[in-house]
This record gives sequence, C-alpha cells and structure tokens, in this order.
Amino acid sequence: MSNDASLAGPGRDGQLDDLEQTHFDLLVIGGGITGAGVAREAALRGLSVALVEANDFASGTSSRSSKLIHGGLRYLAMGDIALVRETALERKRVHRLAPHLAEPKWMLAPARSRAGLMKFRTAITTYEKLGAVEDKDRHRNWQGDELRENEPTLNQERYPYACAYREYLTDDVRLVLANLRAATRSGACAVNHLAVTEIVHKAGRAVGATANCALTGRSLTIKSRTVVNAAGPWVEGIMALDETRDADAAPRLHLSRGVHIVMDRSRLPVRNLVIMGTEDRRSIFAISRDDSVYVGTTDTSYPSGATVWPEITPEDVEYLLKPVAKTFKTDPLGPQDVIAAWSGLRPLIAKPGKQAKEISRKDEIWVGHSGLITIAGGKLTGYRKMATTVVERVLSLASDLKARPTLDEDHDEPLPGGDFSGDLANLAGTLSRETGLDEKYADRIVRLYGDESSSVVALGRDPVIDGGTVLLGEVAWAVEQEAAASLEDVIYRRTRAALYCGRECDGLLEPIARALQARLGWNDEECQSQIDSVRGQMTGDLAFKHVS
Ligand code: FAD
Repeated sequence: MSNDASLAGPGRDGQLDDLEQTHFDLLVIGGGITGAGVAREAALRGLSVALVEANDFASGTSSRSSKLIHGGLRYLAMGDIALVRETALERKRVHRLAPHLAEPKWMLAPARSRAGLMKFRTAITTYEKLGAVEDKDRHRNWQGDELRENEPTLNQERYPYACAYREYLTDDVRLVLANLRAATRSGACAVNHLAVTEIVHKAGRAVGATANCALTGRSLTIKSRTVVNAAGPWVEGIMALDETRDADAAPRLHLSRGVHIVMDRSRLPVRNLVIMGTEDRRSIFAISRDDSVYVGTTDTSYPSGATVWPEITPEDVEYLLKPVAKTFKTDPLGPQDVIAAWSGLRPLIAKPGKQAKEISRKDEIWVGHSGLITIAGGKLTGYRKMATTVVERVLSLASDLKARPTLDEDHDEPLPGGDFSGDLANLAGTLSRETGLDEKYADRIVRLYGDESSSVVALGRDPVIDGGTVLLGEVAWAVEQEAAASLEDVIYRRTRAALYCGRECDGLLEPIARALQARLGWNDEECQSQIDSVRGQMTGDLAFKHVS
C-alpha cells in the first residue's frame, strides 16, 4: 500500500501548516472533478500545487452525475465531429488510467421499428469510427429471443429491436478521489472542508487566497504564483472575490438541475444501461448498479443560484417514471418505490435565449485582469483534456514556471487503484481467494477500490452490520487515505451507501458513526449530531414522497 497518496497527509494541522508555509506554483480552488484533474496534471508535470475544497471533495456536481464516461452522441446530431471524436477517445484513456472506474457496459437503444434501428446504427457506426472502438466492443443488434435473453424486462411489444453499444460506467466521487490521490502522490497538498473567502492580490495580480477551515476554525493565507478557479456552480462567486462586475452584467453561468431516482433492482430488474425517450423528446437512462437501478436525469433551469442540495420535486419523479412505464414490463412503479435520490447542478455556460437542454456541455476558460483563471462547463468525461488545457494556460501566464511536458497515452500513470489488467471479474476472484472475502462483497469492493481492494479489506473484512454490504475496512480507509471527516463524507461520498445501499443505509449510520468516533475524537454529543444530520439529509432526499 502506498501511503504517499493519502489525502489525510500529516493530519489536519500539519496540512494547514504546509499550506501556510509553502509558496506554491498553483492554487486550485474547488475539489470536484475539474479541480482534481487540474491538480493531478500540474503535479505530474512538476508544479507545486495546493487544492482547497470548501466542503468535502466532490460534494458539488461531481457526486450528482449519471456516472457515465460517455461520448457525446448528442453532438453528432449537432454536427460537432471534433467534440465527438475527443470525448469518444477520452473514454478509452480514462479506462486505461482506472479500469475499475470506467467499466465497459452495453448501452441499449431500443427501437420501435427496423427503420429506427437502422438510423441509430448509422450514427453509432460513425461514433465508433471516431472513437477507434475495437472490434470486440462494436455495437450489436438484438431482437426476438436474443433481446429477451439480454434484457428480459424490456417491453418488446413496443420495442422489438435494440442496438447495444459500448459506454463506460464510473463512480464520479471515486474518480475525483483517485485523481486527488494521484496529485498527492506527485507532491500536491489537497485539503477538504477549507473554503476560500478572499483572493489575495499583489500589484493587481491574484497571488493566493485566504481560507477558513470548517473543522478547526483556523483561518490561513495560501501564497501562490497562479490561481485556478474550478468551483463548478460557484465559479461566479469566486470571480466576484477577484474583481467587481457591473451589477447588471449578464450571468456567465446557466445552472441546470438534474435529478436521479434509485429503485431496488428486484422492482426494476434492468441488466444493462438502457436509453429511454421522454415526452419532451430528451433521452434519459436506466442504469443498473449493484442491487439497485437508477433513472435519470432531468434538465431544468435553476435560476436560484448555486446550492449543495438542490431540491427534488414530485414532478421530477413523475417525469422520470413515465418513460420507465413505457420502456419496461414491470409492476407499476410509483414514488413509494424510490429508495434514494440525488439532485445536482450543471454549471453550463450561459447562452442568452437558450434553454438548459439546448446548451452545449463544452467548457470555457476565462482569464481575469488579475490573471485568475476560471474554468467552467464541460463534463466528467472530458476532465483530463480540460486539465491539460488549463495547465497550458497557467504556464503561458507565468512563463517563468518550468514544467515537464504532459504525459502521452503510453506513459500516463494509472490512477491509484487502476494498476491492473482491467479484468474486474479476475480481480474480484483473486481478492476473494486471497482474503476469504465472499464473492458478493468482492465484486462490489473491486469496482470501488480497484487494485487497492486488498489493502481496504486488510483494514477490516467484516461487514459493518451482519449480512450488510459495507465493510469496516472501508470506514478506516475513508479516514486514513481519503480524508473523510464526517459521517456524511463516509455515507454519501466514500462508501456510496446513501445511493446504492437502499434500505440498509439507515442501519449503517449508528455503527459507522461509532467507528468514526474513535478515529476522529468525537464526544457522544457530536456523534449523535452527525447521525441526526445524515438521517435528516436522507429523509430530505425523499421528501417528495410526502408532498401532496
Ligand atoms: P463541482 O463538482 O461542483 O466542483 C466544484 C467544487 O468547488 C465544489 O465541490 C464546491 O464545494 C467547491 N467550492 C465552491 N466554492 C468554493 C470555495 N469558496 N472554496 C473552495 N471550494 C469551493 N458528465 C459526464 O461526463 N457524464 C455524466 O454521466 C454526467 N451526468 C451528469 C448528470 C447531472 C445531473 C449533472 C448535474 C451533471 C452531469 N455531468 C456528467 C456533468 C459533470 O457532472 C460536471 O461537468 C462535473 O461534475 C463538474 O465538476 P466541477 O469540478 O466543475 O464542479
């Protein structure tokens, strides 16, 4: 186990001391996928890097996505070939860096007629050419018995055909953590629960920031040669700390809210990833993961401003369940079948007069008068490419900074957990044999931790609750390696129990909080308050069930 990738570093006080005492080449504000990718790229190229995250790593948009590393099929319809090629190729690159966090899956596009199937096939063939898809991963068409066998719940009376093509399933938070740990392994200092409150200027240049630690109350100043603002839906707030804008200036971001709902797989036994059409002619997905299936997403403008927990309304749930009823043959599903849900904000680049669903997901870089570099828009899938562009921009602004060239595909270092052949079934089998862990656990563990799984299991191979899904070792790993500092960090963003463990999750709160109490030095009162807070959040996620 390599300890130098630990995000917990020399403990919080030690990390804050390091931040205060070092003069960095680059300070990154925001610990979502954009900031994590920039920190990794810059650290790999030899820059000294600090990254600060106001809440927990990936607590913003980067924990609320559909969790797909996917090409931009929709851009094909818009004729943006260059972008399609880029995202389609990027999927393979992320798979090479971390095969456990980019697992190839069949995505099914059901068709009502042979003509519909053929039209889709034409688009997919182009897509596969642009993405240099290998023969074994090329699309296939299913109908009749073959379709029934592969996706038994699909409503074949309505959809007698389906085209199955490759996309990649990830876990967004764990992809962020893996990038941050890769950055740390290359010398970066990444600290969560540390919010930037001021940008520091010298001779008109942005040369650092003041930040407040939510855990210790300590306030500190971080000195840096350059500053990147990767605060996702919050980028405009950081820009406002840097320079004043006219009060009537048009907003730069158009926030769009996206909701996902989770159901027990026994109620919606989907085997693959399935595309469904909505009444307003959008595509949404049903995605199977562990014992659950999630359905999403909505895409509605959110003018109220950035927030960590955007609401989930009964209308959102109805919108997502309608296509499910048309696409699958199951007993009728209603809000009562939803066992978890999440909602997030897309930080889209504002285009006057356009609705959220019409706006491109392209990224954009803005450089302020002070040299503050802001990156916004984009997708999880393109994070690595965005990071290389941002670091190039950093280097062009501070020409005295010396950096190594970016690593090409053949020399790129796997992310922590990603140094294995890519065969997850084999990795799970080995883990099970070597540790005696039941295969049911091993399958889940390798998808979260890759080749670091045996280190996680070594920290505690018993489940947190008898017969439950989450292992005690995961809790220890979350604190020691991934800087989890609260029950919410562990339940929502390390083990992902709040999303995928369904009805078991409530039973996990007390024992995980007790396990954290010993490690994080909480008193009984603090421990109870952590439990109450997460239980309140989980209840809030499903509040739509009680709105009449
Ligand atoms: P964020 O993840 O929001 O990170 C910004 C961070 O900055 C936050 O953690 C925040 O706390 C922090 N911050 C804010 N203010 C401060 C401050 N003052 N000091 C320090 N830190 C601060 N993309 C895909 O490729 N595939 C998908 O399947 C997909 N599905 C999606 C589904 C939905 C519903 C949504 C909303 C998006 C989806 N996306 C998808 C897009 C993708 O999730 C986003 O592009 C990406 O997560 C944005 O990451 P980010 O790092 O820019 O923002």
